[in-house]
Amino acid sequence: MTHVFPRHTKARPPRAARGEGAYIIDETGKRYLDGSGGAAVSCLGHSDPDVTQAIKDQADRIAFAHTGFFTSEPAERLADRLIAHAPQGIERVYFVSGGSEAVEAALKLGRQYFLEKGESSRTRFIARRQSYHGNTLGALGTGGNAWRREPFAPLMVETSHIAPCYEYRGRQADETPEAYGLRVADELEAELNRVGPENVIGFVAEPVVGATLGAVPSVPGYFKRIREICDRHGILLILDEVMCGMGRTGTLFACEGDDVRPDIVTIAKGLGAGYQPIGAMLCSGEIYAAIEGGSGFFQHGHTYIGHPVACAAADVVVSKLTDGGMTERAARMGEVLGAALIARFGQHPHIGDIRGRGMFRGLELVEDRESKTPFDPARGINKRIKAAAFEAGLICYPMGGTIDGRQGDHVLLAPPFILTEDQVGELVDKLATAL
Ligand code: PMP
Repeated sequence: MTHVFPRHTKARPPRAARGEGAYIIDETGKRYLDGSGGAAVSCLGHSDPDVTQAIKDQADRIAFAHTGFFTSEPAERLADRLIAHAPQGIERVYFVSGGSEAVEAALKLGRQYFLEKGESSRTRFIARRQSYHGNTLGALGTGGNAWRREPFAPLMVETSHIAPCYEYRGRQADETPEAYGLRVADELEAELNRVGPENVIGFVAEPVVGATLGAVPSVPGYFKRIREICDRHGILLILDEVMCGMGRTGTLFACEGDDVRPDIVTIAKGLGAGYQPIGAMLCSGEIYAAIEGGSGFFQHGHTYIGHPVACAAADVVVSKLTDGGMTERAARMGEVLGAALIARFGQHPHIGDIRGRGMFRGLELVEDRESKTPFDPARGINKRIKAAAFEAGLICYPMGGTIDGRQGDHVLLAPPFILTEDQVGELVDKLATAL
């Protein structure tokens, strides 16, 4: 008997007792290879001694000081470290406690930025269908996942949605990837013209789509065109890197891989690497200057922002991702993982696509490879694979997305960057058993 809210099922899952590198061990001693880092969280694996030491040291010094009164050395150090490696033009960091809070802060900062500039008609956002940006009301309102939105409609943030850049299902047979990328990017222009660009704050998108589509990068040229359209209409480009950021795709910020410069970027999961709940919203110097020169401060805040222990942990994480070479390792081991998946599953009759970047890989599961027909949702394929993999001692992240009104299934893999080649083999073997 427990009084904790159940998450997805009424059956109580096993208790996680210990973490050891790439493994989680439950209270019965069963070992699970963490093939998805939870949901792209545990980039350094479990029980990293340097991160846990930093947590202890900071907790000994001071665990909490309200940011209404104090700043802290770990928060300042972490902000400096992030900015030293951030995309061009990004100059300020606002710490929060997770991904949804980071997106929420981004949306509100966008609104306040235009208010400071006297552009009060800008209240709307444009995002993409089949997207997820978090579960708080603002972030949920931005996301384009119909089944998540509907129970809570009407939502408070007015957002309209264009097509995702999803080559596997979107590109016509006679279309080059570049032509496809421009065609879907131009949907943004059409939507801006429909709703009136003077009413829009920004366009929100994940550089590499995580949970809803399963590690889908955009095609080359897509984000360049998106940036041009945003600039032409004076709207903000808000990139949600909560899942794909922090080294996951082989660069510290995923947008580096798309050679695109955001106005605002959100990060979370890999930032705390599972050791502490922390997220951040980073913005351009220009946005910050408008706030600073206007009302003087961002009209937003939470009690736990910039928590010293969370920042101390994340500072070690980011130093390992950058100076410690872990992002390069994600790029290198990501190639090994990608090649192993293609070697094992490239001809699998029910795997239609194997994709991704770095340690962020997705497999699309289909009834028929030729026609790309999704499985009947009633078969619950992704849930069954999750259960079978768990039974076999593998944690992976299967999900179903809506494809043309039907449920499609995919498996997302986002293992820790410390994975060895032998562990890549173990992951692939266990996934094969589950499939
Ligand atoms: N944005 C993206 C892209 C995400 O994947 C998630 C979490 N899956 C969130 C936002 C929300 O993050 P959190 O669950 O930490 O609130």
